Amino acid sequence: MLGGGFGGVFAARHLRHAAADVVLLDRGPSHLFQPLLYQVATGLLSEGQISTPLRSMFRRQRNVEVLLGEATDLDAERKIVVASRPHGSTFEIPYDYLVVAVGMRQSYFGHDEFSKVAPGMKTLGDALAIRRRVFGAFEMAESVPKEERGPWLTFAVTGAGPTGVELAGQIRELATRTLAREFRTIDPNEARVMLFDGVDSPLAPFGPRLSGKAASRLTKLGVELHMGVFVTDIDHDGLQTKGKDGTVERHAAKTVLWTAGVQAVPFVETLATALGVEQDRGGRVTVNPDLTVPGHPEVWVVGDIMALDGMPGVAEVALQGGVHAAAQIRRQIKGRPKGQERFKYRDVGSAAYICRFHALVQIRHIQLSGFLGWLTWGVIHLGFLSGLRNRVGVGQSWFLALLRGRRRERGLLYGDPRGLQDSFAD
Ligand SMILES: Cc1cc2nc3c(=O)[nH]c(=O)nc-3n(C[C@H](O)[C@H](O)[C@H](O)COP(=O)(O)OP(=O)(O)OC[C@H]3O[C@@H](n4cnc5c(N)ncnc54)[C@H](O)[C@@H]3O)c2cc1C
Repeated sequence: MLGGGFGGVFAARHLRHAAADVVLLDRGPSHLFQPLLYQVATGLLSEGQISTPLRSMFRRQRNVEVLLGEATDLDAERKIVVASRPHGSTFEIPYDYLVVAVGMRQSYFGHDEFSKVAPGMKTLGDALAIRRRVFGAFEMAESVPKEERGPWLTFAVTGAGPTGVELAGQIRELATRTLAREFRTIDPNEARVMLFDGVDSPLAPFGPRLSGKAASRLTKLGVELHMGVFVTDIDHDGLQTKGKDGTVERHAAKTVLWTAGVQAVPFVETLATALGVEQDRGGRVTVNPDLTVPGHPEVWVVGDIMALDGMPGVAEVALQGGVHAAAQIRRQIKGRPKGQERFKYRDVGSAAYICRFHALVQIRHIQLSGFLGWLTWGVIHLGFLSGLRNRVGVGQSWFLALLRGRRRERGLLYGDPRGLQDSFAD
């Protein structure tokens, strides 16, 4: 299994009773629950509450060996994956069956230079970088002369999908509830949060009704919506946008965050070349209906990096894909006929958090918003988190934040001077 995200972990788990030696390789030590990254970024949750060490997850499943390393090459003839250790040397992993679920990374649509100024939101490192910048910006605003405060108290978020909306909403809540009484010279309530996207409304895939509700709730919260515009440049002092009518605008903001697009991690291109298969525009690998790679019945590609029938890049697709691949492997180990068993995705819906007591949930024809949507969102997310301890911890942090606006996870700013420099370096 390459990748310890939803696809890899669920594939490994479902080989629990199989006569198989499973190697689970990941470049990081933990399984990360990406849907709550934005809450780490805004000081509500700790990094430990949304990540579980893979070793601890599989401590009782004796047929799984967890290895830390990054897959860098593939020899399809010899059936060997080459991986590099964190300190540089390489090692080989031979396989009979291979499940690849290495996920996506942030895409800056050909402007990788933006990543130096505007962190994305895909890894724990990203969330911590955002946390440093956001809390650091309030600190800077408190200490700089009054006339320089404006850009430090202005936050720009690009991408009005669930992650951008959640991040923008959380920064406003942070400013108006958590930080409201903590400063002496600035009023955090004055923090401006701007949300940019080329589409005409936030959370557009939820349909016009829910998207409209999201727009009005965000506006009430104080988020400034800049829809139908494209971000054309970003630097340390702000960003430039171009409207559909060609109007160019400049917005001063010391904190710019990027959630606008995704593309496959670099290993996927190596994989596609080695297996001689096609990739789509986002770098996803086109797979057979049973999730195997054309011409390679021993290789399954699952999760965000698979391209099949326009399935979305969501946790459930990855999780069900991993289980599907494992079921096929189990069959083959038992010597049952291969059969071209189609992957049937059971759509369990999607959800997006907007602010306290407001979330959108769409489960087939059922659309929920407001308080009911928020309750459903909470239950779904707690259910998906791995480990009882994380669930209890997250539940408790949510309760304290709801009750008193508390956000305790802000230690990094004070304990890591390097982080502060990173945030404000030119
Ligand atoms: C901010 C954010 C919010 C989201 N919110 C939601 C949501 O609310 N609902 C929802 O359903 N989905 C959500 N998603 C999407 C969901 O998290 C993904 O669809 C899901 O994680 C995909 O699982 P995966 O196994 O394909 O990949 P991932 O979970 O991304 O896992 C890939 C793993 O592969 C590892 N890896 C990468 N390259 C290599 C390599 N070369 N060698 C070894 N290991 C490697 C990575 O370290 C990672 O652990 C969100 C995603 C993000 C980023």
